Amino acid sequence: MTFKRLAEYFHKLENTTLRNQMTEILAELFKEAPQNEIGKIVYLLQGRVAPLYEAVEFGLADKMIIRAIADGLKVDSQKVTRVFKESGDLGKTAEKLKANVKTKHNLNVLQVFGTLHKTALAGGEGSQDVKIKLLGSLIRDLDSLSVRYLVRIPVAKLRLGFSDMTILDALSWMKAGSKKLRPQFEKAYNVRPDLGLIAETVKRHKENNFNIEPRVGIPILMARAERMGSGEEIIDKIGRCAVEPKYDGFRLQGHKMGNKVELFSRNLENVTHMYPDIVQGIKKQVKTKEAIIEGEAVAYNPQTGEYLPFQETVQRKRKYNIEAKAKEIPLKLFAFELLYQTGKNLIMSEYVERRKQLEKIVARGEVILIAQEEVIDTPKRLEAIFLDTVSRGLEGVMAKKLDGIYRAGSRDFNWIKYKRSYAGKLDDTVDAVVMGYDFGQGKRTAFGIGDFLIGVFDEKLEKYVSIAKIGTGLTDEEWKEIKIRSEKLKAPEKPKNYEVDKIMGCDVWITPKIVVEIRADEITRSPVHTAGRIMGPTKTGSAIEVKEAGLALRFPRLERFRDDKNPTDATTLGELKKMLHRQMKK
Ligand code: ATP
Repeated sequence: MTFKRLAEYFHKLENTTLRNQMTEILAELFKEAPQNEIGKIVYLLQGRVAPLYEAVEFGLADKMIIRAIADGLKVDSQKVTRVFKESGDLGKTAEKLKANVKTKHNLNVLQVFGTLHKTALAGGEGSQDVKIKLLGSLIRDLDSLSVRYLVRIPVAKLRLGFSDMTILDALSWMKAGSKKLRPQFEKAYNVRPDLGLIAETVKRHKENNFNIEPRVGIPILMARAERMGSGEEIIDKIGRCAVEPKYDGFRLQGHKMGNKVELFSRNLENVTHMYPDIVQGIKKQVKTKEAIIEGEAVAYNPQTGEYLPFQETVQRKRKYNIEAKAKEIPLKLFAFELLYQTGKNLIMSEYVERRKQLEKIVARGEVILIAQEEVIDTPKRLEAIFLDTVSRGLEGVMAKKLDGIYRAGSRDFNWIKYKRSYAGKLDDTVDAVVMGYDFGQGKRTAFGIGDFLIGVFDEKLEKYVSIAKIGTGLTDEEWKEIKIRSEKLKAPEKPKNYEVDKIMGCDVWITPKIVVEIRADEITRSPVHTAGRIMGPTKTGSAIEVKEAGLALRFPRLERFRDDKNPTDATTLGELKKMLHRQMKK
């Protein structure tokens, strides 16, 4: 397929906001794509040249792209900058400058992908110049519409407005003319979150029930827990179960391949280099050639033997000064899962079996500890463990269904979290996405930010819907931090996948990236927030009005930044509704 043809599809996708239409356009594209190209096309649709969990990044700032455009089109950088200032969009800038230039070549998808891949991989001294030359050559050899989309890839601004799930829907659509195969494809994706590989596999197999096995070195999407508020509720739901403390640190998935160990965070970032102590611990204590284990990493004070609060633990997440911090704040990994063991996939095994194997392969030692566990069958015992755990300063407990499989990538009652209730009515925090901010007045004008809008993900609409605007309760440091982070994510207009009432509009929109954990007193109803809001025609049919107010947060406060979560892992509208339901029962 020529890249020009692919760009025509990009164009169609850019011009629709309707999810079903996007699915059909993608299905058409996948049908047309040859077997050996579909995987690469899928990466390009995500604005990448590798699966999400591979740290292949372009490392090119706007300034460098301007140089690449100037280099490719043999125009002055200042001219490019001028055009860029008008539109604020590098893609349109390159397209405009290219409009009157004849193009000799018509590159195909594989050629463009190959050059982009080389651009991303170029490293070391002089690599910026190499990257500029490579990108410049593509700009020279492609037509104007192609250039618009090409240039947006290295600056992560492709923003076609669909999620990984839409790609899975489209693959199903291609195969079956409906979305009915999506659950099957999603299961494969949860075990190997590589959309390129899934697309190739779907295209290659005549039947649809292909099997995808986990592989060491490739992260598995992590299972998540449902919430409940009492021992009785939990026993009613899953009966006899295993109860473990809910440690308050961060989740790590460790992959051992012989003498090599890799670590992944919840959002599949490869974080191996950050935690050399855990890497050593796994090498030393995991007594099998290959393994995928999971646990919670928590800071530990070797002098007092105490577990430290999250604020201390999180200091270990850093790019510099790693070894010194590791000495100062050593981590322990409380292991609670074994998903794979030399040649044996354990994801579909029962919890008790996985736990038994985990205990067998982890030798006693300093760094990897097996999570405490007790199998119980009465609410009374569960409450007793809960109270004891909370009194030791932990968050609460996790109850696990004894015959439950590991539900990769899903939130499910195989795991139930039971956390201590807080003073307010709402017993859990909400992980929300920052959608935009206003400049504001008064004291904070100096920071350039007065309030910010947050939202949750509506999984049916595949859009972010608003739940609160927060203007108080942050420290000066936190305001500065939000502003700095937002600065890099400015969008020229309201992103396509935001559903926001006009009244809640923002001075500056930002693309969904920052996830913040928010504590609030309760969930209320509000006509100006769009989470779960239902609109309908007025009696006379002459206008649209609010039929059911949306969900909103009362007295929202920032608890912490959740860098370990992707925006699509943030709290969903469905979860928020369940939280409201639980709140009403109190
Ligand atoms: P929360 O915001 O409530 O901490 P979350 O949104 O980060 O939860 P969930 O999957 O809902 O993620 O909650 C489970 C999290 O609790 C896991 O991701 C893991 O990091 C942590 N955890 C701590 N102890 C355990 C345990 N024993 N078993 C499983 N997960 C545990």
